[in-house]
Parts: sequence; C-alpha cells; structure tokens
Amino acid sequence: MIQDTTASMAEWRVKLRSTLGDDIVLSESDEMLPYCRDWHGDVTSNAVAVLRPRSTEQVAQAVKLCSELGLSIVPQGGNTGLVLGAVPDADANQVVLSLERMNRIRQIDADDFSAVVEAGCILSELKDAIAEKEMFFPLALGAQGTCRIGGNVSTNAGGINVLRYGMTRELIFGLEVVLPDGSIFDGLSTLRKDNRGIDLKQLFIGAEGTLGIITAVSVKLTPYPDQVATALLGLASLDDAIKLFRRARRDCCDLMSAFEFMPPLAFTLAKEAMPDLPIPIAADYPAYVLMEISGSGLVDIDDLMGRFLEAVMEEGIVLDGTLAASQTQARNLWLIREGMNEGQAKRGMHLRTDVSVKLSQLANFVAEAEKAVAEAVPGSTCVSYGHVGDGNVHLNVLPAAEAEPEQRLQQIYVAKGAINAVLDRYQGSISAEHGIGRLKRGDFEARLSPVRRHLLAALKQAIDPGMMMNPGCQLNFPANS
Ligand SMILES: Cc1cc2nc3c(=O)[nH]c(=O)nc-3n(C[C@H](O)[C@H](O)[C@H](O)COP(=O)(O)OP(=O)(O)OC[C@H]3O[C@@H](n4cnc5c(N)ncnc54)[C@H](O)[C@@H]3O)c2cc1C
Repeated sequence: MIQDTTASMAEWRVKLRSTLGDDIVLSESDEMLPYCRDWHGDVTSNAVAVLRPRSTEQVAQAVKLCSELGLSIVPQGGNTGLVLGAVPDADANQVVLSLERMNRIRQIDADDFSAVVEAGCILSELKDAIAEKEMFFPLALGAQGTCRIGGNVSTNAGGINVLRYGMTRELIFGLEVVLPDGSIFDGLSTLRKDNRGIDLKQLFIGAEGTLGIITAVSVKLTPYPDQVATALLGLASLDDAIKLFRRARRDCCDLMSAFEFMPPLAFTLAKEAMPDLPIPIAADYPAYVLMEISGSGLVDIDDLMGRFLEAVMEEGIVLDGTLAASQTQARNLWLIREGMNEGQAKRGMHLRTDVSVKLSQLANFVAEAEKAVAEAVPGSTCVSYGHVGDGNVHLNVLPAAEAEPEQRLQQIYVAKGAINAVLDRYQGSISAEHGIGRLKRGDFEARLSPVRRHLLAALKQAIDPGMMMNPGCQLNFPANS
C-alpha cells in the first residue's frame, strides 16, 4: 500500500506534529538526511518523518498513530548497521523512529551483575558506566562509539569478544518492547535462571526491528578484566592461524578474549587511513593474528601470555610477534585492525561480506573463494580478515582501481555471486553477524527452505499482521500473506 502523494505526505506530517508534538517530529529534508543515509554513504533515501521519542510511552503513542495513518516504521539506533536495515525505502510510506533520545541507564546492580538500560544508550557509554563500577559488558565492536544497545540487540551483534562471551543474544537477560499494536511487552527481568516456557525475548533479538521496537534492555555483566595482554603475531598461513587458535583455547584456559586474523594488506590499508600509525612488526608475513587474553583477580595474564608465546614460537607455529607493553601500545595494535576498515572505505565502493563456515573448513573456504573471485573479477583485490575463532570471515572485494562506478557495481555483484556459490557448497552462512537488512534480503530469501519460510511468515503474521514494522527488511511478505 504505497500512498506517497505530496498531499498525503503533507497531511501525514501535520497529523504527526499535532499529535506527537513538534519536539518529537523532524520532517525537513536536511534534518532527516543523517537518518536516511547509510553508514558508508552508499544509499541516501527519504522518509515521511523522523520521530525521536523520549520515553517508552511516547514510542507506544507513535506506533499507535502510525498504525492509524497507515505509515510503517523503520526503527533506528546508531545507524551503523552494514546491511541497510535502518534506512527507509525511498518513495514508501515509512517513518524512521530513532531511539537516540532514550539513552538513560536505569540501573546498574553490582550484586547481581546486571544493568537495565534504555535502547538508545550508546554502547561505549554503557561500557564506560559499567566499568566505573568495576564490571564489564563484553560486547565490543568498531562502531561502539556510535551504535546503540537496542541496535546491537536487534542485529544480535557479534564483535571481537564473541569467542569468549558469545553474541549479544548471550549477554541479555530481558527486553522491553513496544509491539506493532502499541502494547508494551515488559520482559525486563534480570533473573539469571528463568525457564517459564518459551523465552519470548529471543523473538526480538536479531529481528532487525521487524517485530517491534526495543525500548529497554537488561544486560548480563561480568567482572572487569583488569589484566589484558595483547599481541600481534606473524604467521605462515591462515591454516597456521587456525592451528594457533585451537592451541590458544586449550593453553590459555579459555581466557582468550579476541583472536583476529588479518592479511599483510591490512597494514597498507591502515596506513592509508592513518598515516602516522606505528606498525611494530615486519609487514611481509603471509598472515597475522591480533590476539588478546584477559582476566581478573588472582590469575597472572602476562605470565600466561609469555609462556604461551614462547612455546608456539619454539614450535614454529608463530614466526614473529610483538607484545604490547602498555595500554597505548595495545590501543595502537587495535587501531591497525580498525584502520584497515577505514582504508577499505577510502578505496571507494566495495563488496563487504560477513560469512561463516565451520572453523575446520575456514582456510579451505577462503582459498577457494578468493580463487573464484580472482577468476570472476580479474584485477580485483580480496581482503579476507575477521574474528576467525568463530568461523566468521569478512571476505571483502575491492574492485579494480580504474573501474568506473557502474563497473564497480557490476564487479561487486559478480564477486558476491562467486563467493556465495563457494559458500553454499560449504553450507555456510551469508550473514555471520551483520544481519540481513535490505541488502541481503534476496540472498536470504533464495536460501530459505519452505518450512523455515512458513515459520517466519507465521510469526510475522501473528505479531505484525499489518506488516508495519520495517517492511522491506529481512523478509518481503506482503500483507496477509
Ligand atoms: C566500523 C564498524 C564496525 C562494525 N563492527 C561490527 C562487528 O564487529 N560486529 C557486528 O556484529 N557488527 C559490526 N558492525 C555493524 C553494526 O555496528 C552493528 O550491526 C550494530 O549492532 C548496529 O547497531 P546500531 O545501533 O547502529 O543499529 P542500526 O544500524 O540503527 O539498526 C540496525 C538494525 O536494527 C534495527 N533497530 C535498531 N534499533 C532498534 C530498536 N531499538 N528496536 C528494534 N529495532 C531496532 C534497525 O531497524 C535495523 O534493522 C560494524 C559497523 C561499523 C560501521
């Protein structure tokens, strides 16, 4: 049902303003622009309005009004998502509902290792507030200074600490959600054990705003890891990196909190983004691992890392390495990892993938997929890196430098097809952590079994029969399908 005429657009805006108040509603194009453009600036869209409520009750009121007006809603957190889930479709009757003003921490409970926080709280601010109480919220990703906890929950974000602490799903006690009919699901319990039937909060984790609007989250905390050892290591291959990972899990007693794989090109890309960044290791090893172990209390992390590195270097699994001697040095090592992302962005529009296979098959998969891309798109460059320990690799493809924008798009399309063909043979996932959004909907739907599709359709129909929540994202079910 698309009613995007100028007349109705004006009427909608008047009605939104008169009911919700001028303070809540933005409708000028320049004001709405940051909410209608994706993180990389690849897509700029448009919306009827941007709504910025300050409370759960205001969210519920906005949802009821949108339902009456026949408007659909695209929830938005920090708008750092990489699959176009938070950016509305152009020429559709959609409003963006931003949670940015709902950013209060409602409570932090040191005795229960829990906190209750509004959905619009920026992840790094939440982590800092919790660290002040000597506790830790383990979710950590490059976008943490901008992304918001409601967005993290809605994408079931991963990040660098997954191998030790799990995805966002495993860091959540409960949720408060405004449903498409405007009612409020209060599931904000902080009980650590609660087995009363179906765990409803799970429906909304990773749903990318298609079933309701998360307005608050209760999160699980852990003791603050006040000892951290960080090392950058040079290796002969990705195969050796995986060998190292298995070894580290056992030898470091599951205290490993990050294990990132990078190719040598990482240094070039990081330098393109941050020319002054120090690179404290020779840049010509075939593979690199950025590894972190951490802990609190009586355990001696520096000693553990030292003994571990000595053993794996003696055995030849690791060829070279540098151990951070200060927090600044550790931060600089992580900046290489972050800088390589920025370096890729600086090289223009490129293919970003977020795939996973079984860890035991990762090295073979990457070799085959890179070969398939080289054959399908001569002149392109593959940049394969990622969290590795959880089988997740970002196999990105930079089109040939001289390619014009149209050719770039074509090369991206062909490269994606080549990677997905290999991925399907490995029975891998097209989305290990970023979600589906609008970008991967076609690839997602094409791989759905009839039973899974039926279950998803039934769920959507039961919770959002008017199909008003984030239509176009994840699944494209028409109303009453
Ligand atoms: C530099 C960089 C590094 C990144 N690294 C990682 C990484 O390591 N791991 C990873 O998993 N992701 C990563 N991402 C992707 C992104 O940061 C995550 O997906 C993040 O969880 C999105 O949070 P957000 O608040 O920005 O959500 P948004 O982008 O605003 O929204 C994402 C989706 O969630 C929905 N949504 C947002 N808020 C709500 C809400 N309150 N209720 C219901 N639905 C909602 C939106 O409609 C959309 O579908 C990275 C992104 C960047 C730019």
